[in-house]
Amino acid sequence: MSNAPHPRQAHRPVQALAPGLYIVATPIGNLRDITLRALDVLQAASAVFAEDSRIARRLLDAHGVSRSVETYHDHNGEAVRPRILDRLAAGEAVALISDAGTPLISDPGFKLARAAIDAGADVIPVPGASASLAALCGSGLASDRFMFAGFPPAKSAARRTWLAEFSDVKATLIFYESGARLAASLADTAQAFPGRSGVVARELTKIYEEFQRDSLDALATRYAESGPPKGEIVVLVAPPAANRRWTEAEVDAALRAERGGRALKEASADIALRAGWPKRDVYARGLAVKDEDAGAD
Ligand code: SAM
Repeated sequence: MSNAPHPRQAHRPVQALAPGLYIVATPIGNLRDITLRALDVLQAASAVFAEDSRIARRLLDAHGVSRSVETYHDHNGEAVRPRILDRLAAGEAVALISDAGTPLISDPGFKLARAAIDAGADVIPVPGASASLAALCGSGLASDRFMFAGFPPAKSAARRTWLAEFSDVKATLIFYESGARLAASLADTAQAFPGRSGVVARELTKIYEEFQRDSLDALATRYAESGPPKGEIVVLVAPPAANRRWTEAEVDAALRAERGGRALKEASADIALRAGWPKRDVYARGLAVKDEDAGAD
């Protein structure tokens, strides 16, 4: 008989967990987007706290993890936190999950993690799905720098003020939004970031997953016309266009325009900043232009 574990048992931990608060990511739609380590931790932890115990049960049942689940959410956090901290102080391994994705990311858990750290407990991330990163990866927008900002305010006036805070951020912006508010939110977003493109990522990892990529104006018009889309949504905004590097002719023209004005060193520093050139290269062009023009006289 083979010693290979039954597929359902394959993820079972062989060792007890070290004490601490485990922040465990769960799927954002596709039930199979859960790591083997997450299943190990959820099986072995002495307590699992979830936002909604029925949703957690469905997930655990689907993966053959049979155990009790307690609740930790925005409405009982104040009352439940001390109990969890007591368990951590007693050396237990406690796991926290949210309804979907990574706890703390627009979900409960930050106050608990902070309190656990302040109490000297280990906080141990068990990474996995998050709609923010899944959306970024499929968006086609720059991924070298991004900023996740959570849900915009629901009311337009507050939302516009909030969006304005990000107008100078040189990074791809990632927001969560509801289908009901999408059109109005996109209209404000288009106004806050004129000329930029965006992406609406919907139903990630699910059957009707889709990415709509267009200018923010066009996206706002499309969803205003089509009505609220079904399902869950992430909105992404492209970073402001990077300043184009000037051509040599443009640098030369700027240097000639300075003639008779500032000293070459000072003018070169200023032009370099606008042109996206190193200062010394602009200075060298300044000397060359002076020679060329003297030769032409
Ligand atoms: N903690 C979660 C995470 O790591 O992504 C986010 C929780 S937040 C309460 C829920 C919001 O995340 C939804 O309203 C939607 O904006 C976004 N979201 C979650 N699942 C999604 C999915 N499958 N597709 C698109 N957006 C999703």
